[in-house]
Amino acid sequence: MEKFEMIYEGKAKKVYRTDDEKKYIVEYKDDATAFNGLKKGSIRDKGVINNKMSGLLFKLLEEAGIPTHFETILSDREMLVKAVKILPLEVIVRNVAAGSLSKRLGLEEGVIMKETVLEFSYKNDELGDPMVNDYHIFAMEFASKEQLNILKEYALRINEILKEFFLAKNLKLIDFKLEFGLFEGQVILADEISPDTCRLWDVETNKKMDKDRFRRDLGDVEETYQEVLRRLE
Ligand code: UDP
Repeated sequence: MEKFEMIYEGKAKKVYRTDDEKKYIVEYKDDATAFNGLKKGSIRDKGVINNKMSGLLFKLLEEAGIPTHFETILSDREMLVKAVKILPLEVIVRNVAAGSLSKRLGLEEGVIMKETVLEFSYKNDELGDPMVNDYHIFAMEFASKEQLNILKEYALRINEILKEFFLAKNLKLIDFKLEFGLFEGQVILADEISPDTCRLWDVETNKKMDKDRFRRDLGDVEETYQEVLRRLE
């Protein structure tokens, strides 16, 4: 597999074309940002951890029947993926109140939601990823009705699979963000699943084991990312 030119650089990853037009190489960086890029920093070896963790979770989801862009791990920081066109939506799944939901609804962090909450945001940094509903999604043609139904079904199934998996590792899945892409006309899971995109709390102590340690300057950032991977492997 030959790595060609970089076609995209985001906050945490770079994407490269390859000699196979249907495959991309994703390279995970150590760079960390929060609050829509206002806070910038770096978490040592985050790229290595997020690459491994995403690979492991994509494999788990594939085995459970969820189509993903994941092909194989290539190196410490690189994975081979299907060349998808990313839908401009962030799909957020919430089991427990935290972060922006707590603020918006005046809920203390840790309040268990009586039903799983699904939210959608329009992926647009300049606008600060505004929340959108089904009507906005259809009116703006972010996704078709059929595609949105598939997104919802996959997001809820992924939540059940990941909740059970993390619980067995003594981690509570509080909330997480997914991104999907189109490959040969089909909706498949893309992007990453890592402590950058999930909130994970230790079952016994409720210690935050995710990017909130960086966002909120809670300390032990590197150690915590390492510990999450250690529990999963
Ligand atoms: N999230 C993410 N990228 C974003 C926004 C949110 O990965 O651009 C994840 C975040 O890590 C958390 C969940 O989605 O696990 C819900 O985030 P929330 O809306 O509470 O926003 P935050 O408080 O993280 O800004």
